[in-house]
Amino acid sequence: MNKLVVAGNWKMHGDRAFVADFAARLRAELRDRPVSTELMIFPPAGFLSHASDAFAGLAGVGAQNLHAAASGAFTGELSVAMACDLGATLALVGHSERRSLFHETDADCAAKVGAASTAGLQPVLCVGETLDERRGGQARERVLAQLDAVLSVEGTAWLESGGLIAYEPVWAIGTGETATPEQAQEMHAVIRQRLAEAMGEGAAGVRLLYGGSVGPDTAAALFAQPDVDGGLVGGASLSVEKFVAIARAVG
Ligand code: PEP
Repeated sequence: MNKLVVAGNWKMHGDRAFVADFAARLRAELRDRPVSTELMIFPPAGFLSHASDAFAGLAGVGAQNLHAAASGAFTGELSVAMACDLGATLALVGHSERRSLFHETDADCAAKVGAASTAGLQPVLCVGETLDERRGGQARERVLAQLDAVLSVEGTAWLESGGLIAYEPVWAIGTGETATPEQAQEMHAVIRQRLAEAMGEGAAGVRLLYGGSVGPDTAAALFAQPDVDGGLVGGASLSVEKFVAIARAVG
């Protein structure tokens, strides 16, 4: 069985005091009662350095986004080397907000996965269908297209060296509407099957996270599914209590 992951995507929330307070409270919570899950935090880029210091030994810290180029005239962007310099060891790629609000394409995601993994960052590739795509019976096709776009360019080395995939149905993100455990398992099994076709037995060791309104009350049933290896948590990850409760949902 894979070690479960609980990852917090803070999106554009927080400040330096929030980072310090969250980490101190999390450290205190876990001191007496550690969790068996691996923890990850994705703070806003400006706080990566603070977070990597504050969460040292407690949680991996990652960038919410990266630019695939090494450097250049890309105002407002963060390169992989810069993220590493700030202490990141992980990077989200292709979050649905990046895809929809910032027009990131599948090709962009492939380039970012490649750049991140080459530099030793663990990518967490986010895939997921919209409500219209689900209603139109195209959920599977859409998710596999997002995955294939990366596999066809980057292969599977990034997964063999610890890359993760987060299935995040767009209709469940920030809406309070969580996919049922069965819906999550069904799509995770589809993803696992595709990975098995691409990389054989190694597919079993790739951690597949579910994201979309995960909370303390829904986490246990989701994480109990055979192909769900943890969660990528947005809103609830801004609360230490909820984040810890989600991490404890698996015991
Ligand atoms: C996310 O942003 O990745 C996410 C899953 O958000 P939420 O948990 O708030 O739906």
